[in-house]
Amino acid sequence: MKLIVGNWKMNPKNSLEAENLFQEIKKEVGSVKNKEIVICPPFIYLSNLQSISTEQVDSLQLGAQNCFWEEKGAFTGEISPVQLKNLGVKYVILGHSERRQYLRETDEIIAKKLKAVLEARLLPILCIGETKEEREAEKTADVLRFQLENSLQNLSLDIHHLTSLIIAYEPVWAIGSGDFCPPDEALSNFLFIKKQLIKIFSSFAKSQRINPAEKIRILYGGSVDSKNAKDYIDVGFDGLLIGGASLRAGEFIKIVKICAM
Ligand code: PEP
Repeated sequence: MKLIVGNWKMNPKNSLEAENLFQEIKKEVGSVKNKEIVICPPFIYLSNLQSISTEQVDSLQLGAQNCFWEEKGAFTGEISPVQLKNLGVKYVILGHSERRQYLRETDEIIAKKLKAVLEARLLPILCIGETKEEREAEKTADVLRFQLENSLQNLSLDIHHLTSLIIAYEPVWAIGSGDFCPPDEALSNFLFIKKQLIKIFSSFAKSQRINPAEKIRILYGGSVDSKNAKDYIDVGFDGLLIGGASLRAGEFIKIVKICAM
């Protein structure tokens, strides 16, 4: 079952627009089978959207775009995984390149958040990807390896944690640029990520007799639209992380329908 995640970022500008957009999506996707859809609005809209999704279409869930690593306490301005869980949120995006760039989030910070999200029994969507300069210097593999190792290495795992983990391969240069990653290049990075996951989780995987490359879902994100979406599904990605196009109900629904085919 393909996972299609919409990241609304810091949009739209009021709750009425957020509700309308969510309703439009909900109306259409209920009838589409064989997919799971997650909408990640700004925190301030989560509660409203949760209440209008009470007659839940099972396959339409809410996600957050970030969270803090502590459960509660004196952390002004932050929101905890437990608070999100109590609101009915199921997924949390972590390590998005915009947070790495503008908020200086490091892999160490992201690792702490990831651990907290898994402990709260939420599903983390860990974003990794290379910048334009790193790609041009042919450092993509090093960057992906480094980000994966530093965010995942010290997790104390159980089987639930491992199967909850979702990786989003998002080349930074492809995000919001219209310059999407050629599917064959995305495929080679997808296979590289799988190899790294097998390495990182090798001892746990052996003891559990599982293959982490089969259990952990990997999404593609970066200028996805209804014209290129199917290409990433066809090369093997388990779903998509969509920014700009998730704010246009018609385009987002089209992508969902294409991926469900
Ligand atoms: C994103 O924000 O994660 C993203 C992939 O954005 P866009 O689809 O606009 O490139």
